[in-house]
Amino acid sequence: MTEPKSFHMTPEEFRRHGHAVVDWIADYHSQVESFPVLSRVQPGEIRSKLPAQAPERGESFEQILGDMERLILPGITHWQSPNFYAYFPSNASGPAILGDLLSAGLGVQGMLWSTSPACTEVETHVLDWLVAMLGLPEKFLSTGNGGGVIQDTASSGSLCALLAARERATEFASNRKGCDGRLAAYCSTQTHSSVEKAMKIAGLGADNLRAIEVDESFAMRPEALARQIDVDVKAGLIPCFVCATVGTTSSGAIDPVREIGGICGNLWLHVDAAMSGTAALCPEFRFVHDGVELADSYCFNPHKWMFTNFDCSVFYVADRKSLIQTLSVLPEYLRNQATESGAVIDYRDWHIPLGRRFRSLKLWFVIRHYGIEGLQHHVREHVRLAQEFVAWVSGDARFELAAPARLNLVCFRLRAGDQATQALMERLNASGDLYLTHTKLEGKFTLRLCVGQTNTQARHVERAWQRIQEETGRLGSS
Ligand code: PLP
Repeated sequence: MTEPKSFHMTPEEFRRHGHAVVDWIADYHSQVESFPVLSRVQPGEIRSKLPAQAPERGESFEQILGDMERLILPGITHWQSPNFYAYFPSNASGPAILGDLLSAGLGVQGMLWSTSPACTEVETHVLDWLVAMLGLPEKFLSTGNGGGVIQDTASSGSLCALLAARERATEFASNRKGCDGRLAAYCSTQTHSSVEKAMKIAGLGADNLRAIEVDESFAMRPEALARQIDVDVKAGLIPCFVCATVGTTSSGAIDPVREIGGICGNLWLHVDAAMSGTAALCPEFRFVHDGVELADSYCFNPHKWMFTNFDCSVFYVADRKSLIQTLSVLPEYLRNQATESGAVIDYRDWHIPLGRRFRSLKLWFVIRHYGIEGLQHHVREHVRLAQEFVAWVSGDARFELAAPARLNLVCFRLRAGDQATQALMERLNASGDLYLTHTKLEGKFTLRLCVGQTNTQARHVERAWQRIQEETGRLGSS
């Protein structure tokens, strides 16, 4: 008997190539510090090097992997470089990468408990662990009325929260009849743009999102929120949703969740702690969660600062029934005994997509590898380094701090003004030595330096400050 024709990679070939890939990744991580952080390619440059047509005949794995070096690496901005200070980080770590590899290896699609019970149960369990690890309220535990789910991003978390808020406010009528145009939602002028996007997607309309003014630390003014809700109610609108942010994208501002929660009444309060939630691993930074027990939902991204590679965003609700009733549709082809028994969680009802990967595996690996102690150590170190950077900026008369830096994000600018600050950023990024990005605060061009990359150590932050000073000196003389 002859073997049937096959183009598949055999398990033995997979083993050999897999070892080569792991070696490649290990080499990449050990060299990444030496690469220019921001990719230098021009638009279209990478595509121009790819063949116009897909290959007719399969190529050798060596050839394919070889092209990673030649074709792909030049077009990579190195998010895993310890000199990456831009945006918010998108961290990876050894245990997370390996956990993700195993998830790919198992190839599980965990839409229902029955489609892989471990995929659901590990997720539920690890997210319950995280409630205690972050000092979150017990109402988010799956053992009560709440529970957590892993979503792709914080944007999806905000959207799900808004959808559940919409349904709760309209007694689940919007789901059937479409959105009531009188529904209104609230955030601050500093809230991430994903909330406006969610308003568009959920059918409430971006015009029905009220951006509440902020105080001098860029945190939402609760009294302004209360006033706006009052005005809207009097105008016949139906306020249904408030998003408070713990660690805004622009400046790391922390909205006063407790006071906001006191105003919300029956409005759904969502807390977006995408980046800064991770800080709560350390008891001394748990002030970030003050008042979160008043929230209906909460989200943070282990894929930002908790060493768990993208994508992994954790979303909790206090009352899972509202969320499930909002999102659940049960066609015949998904019916099964376990679901019908009512004894299991089917996470397909907790987010927008049906299908889902075994994402909790990488989170489980991270938590078990580092332990709480290890995670706390690295988070503390990042905050310490950011605070040292704050002291250096404060001590240099050419610079000013643009916002309070309470954790690991430092916003600063040159007193010489916007042009000089922008020129400084462009020079630094062009040098490849580090990468930072900007925002505007009070209308002024402001640099953001976020210390949170997995491998950023004191020597990297010291070097960043040295390079900032050098380029500032050169700006003065050019
Ligand atoms: N919320 C905040 C406060 C953010 O800083 C970000 C991204 O930086 C987001 C939401 C959106 O994150 P994601 O990419 O997970 O949707």
